[in-house]
Amino acid sequence: MPTTEHATNPYATHEHHDFVPAVERALADAPLQVALGRLTDTLMAGNRRGFGSFAESSQLRDQAKAIKEHTLAHLDRYLEQLEASIHRLGGKVHYAADAEEARQIIVRIAKETNSKLVVKSKSMTTEEVHLNPAIEAAGIEVVETDYGEFILQIANERPSHLVAPAVHHTRESIAKVLGEHVGEKLPNDPKSLAMVGRRVLREKFRKADMGITGANFAVAETGTVVLVTNEGNGRLTTTCPRVHVALMGIEKVIPRFTDLPVFLKILARGATGQTLSVYTTVITGTRRPGEQDGAEEFHLVLLDNGRTKVLGTPFRESLQCIRCGACLNACPVYRRIGGHAYGGVYSGPIGSILTPLYDSVTLNPHLPHASSLCGACQAACPVKINIPRMLIGLRELQHKKKPSRLENWAYGTWSFVLRHPWLYRAALKVSKWLSRPFSRDGWLRKLPAAGAGWTSVRDFPAPADRSFRDRWKEMNP
Ligand code: SF4
Repeated sequence: MPTTEHATNPYATHEHHDFVPAVERALADAPLQVALGRLTDTLMAGNRRGFGSFAESSQLRDQAKAIKEHTLAHLDRYLEQLEASIHRLGGKVHYAADAEEARQIIVRIAKETNSKLVVKSKSMTTEEVHLNPAIEAAGIEVVETDYGEFILQIANERPSHLVAPAVHHTRESIAKVLGEHVGEKLPNDPKSLAMVGRRVLREKFRKADMGITGANFAVAETGTVVLVTNEGNGRLTTTCPRVHVALMGIEKVIPRFTDLPVFLKILARGATGQTLSVYTTVITGTRRPGEQDGAEEFHLVLLDNGRTKVLGTPFRESLQCIRCGACLNACPVYRRIGGHAYGGVYSGPIGSILTPLYDSVTLNPHLPHASSLCGACQAACPVKINIPRMLIGLRELQHKKKPSRLENWAYGTWSFVLRHPWLYRAALKVSKWLSRPFSRDGWLRKLPAAGAGWTSVRDFPAPADRSFRDRWKEMNP
């Protein structure tokens, strides 16, 4: 449903990406800044409330991490077990080595089942493989049914947050986009807009042949696929159409059904602060005789797309991610630049790791540096993923692949100065003298040349009049 009107939209689906101009655009976008502030503040408050409200939260997060680590260490075994369980329930399992293969498999299933209309629930994995254009190219209509994703689809835009994909939209812009789609002038009050969306989407659910979902978790021992949503569209997507296809990254498997509550508790708390998400849809097999709803045919597509490549590396911990979005909300960089500036499907601190790993470290040079390494992401993460460690690891990889002469010179000089105290003292004096013309009230607010980039968006503390060494000497005569 893309429209040419959105061809110049900076959030467009296929826009060529350049990190620095995208960041500058985001910083200059006043409504976006307001929307990002509101969303991330609200979700972070929820995260703190959610984890602060029960005493064992830290142990629960450790338990989740341990389950993930154990599963990744035996991933082959649990995937085989999951496959056997799904087969036992009458479903089919497909392995997709990359995005292209995933697209081919799903389009083939759609054709073989004579599907003309596909409804989809929100799934970052389907975004990762760019599924919708492939389905449309096969002449099959595909409709996003998560409200935010639906707005993005009709506006031809990319998601900008893991759990709030249309955060960059206001109710006015939603009224405009949706109004154009349905050919009516719509009021911009949320309830009316929700009712119009419901009217359009209910009709699609009623007529759909196939439902496509992601999977938050899949239980190896039972073959159960679990979807966690707040709108209920996931349940309609899996129960109304006669065919259900779930696309899932291979790292989403968990061993036992009893592991599930651990993840349900931390996912909802990490994402929004809820005790549980509004809908937890647990699907074990297809429709049984006598049942009134549910798909007659089920396919699980297990996606690799770079994941096994990461498994044996120091970045394996990134596979523990449950896509709650908490690290985005906590990150001082994401909170200012939003999701689109990152360029990839995944944004924020975890996106700065996943995009280079799944796509290319060389083609995404800015992402590992789009972080202050403050550690807020790790503190907010329900699985306690050490994101800063991996960002530093990616920087190291970049350096090994393409050493920077300037950096080598700078760090070499810095190391030499630190090893020679007299030189360090002299450097302090020179920097104090050089910065004096730019210093006001103890701050450097406008530096020339290479320092201009820094002070254009933040101030730098001026060197103190009396250094620590001088003061130390005075205190310890
Ligand atoms: S890295 Fe952690 S906080 Fe970020 S999305 Fe994944 S699970 Fe959530």
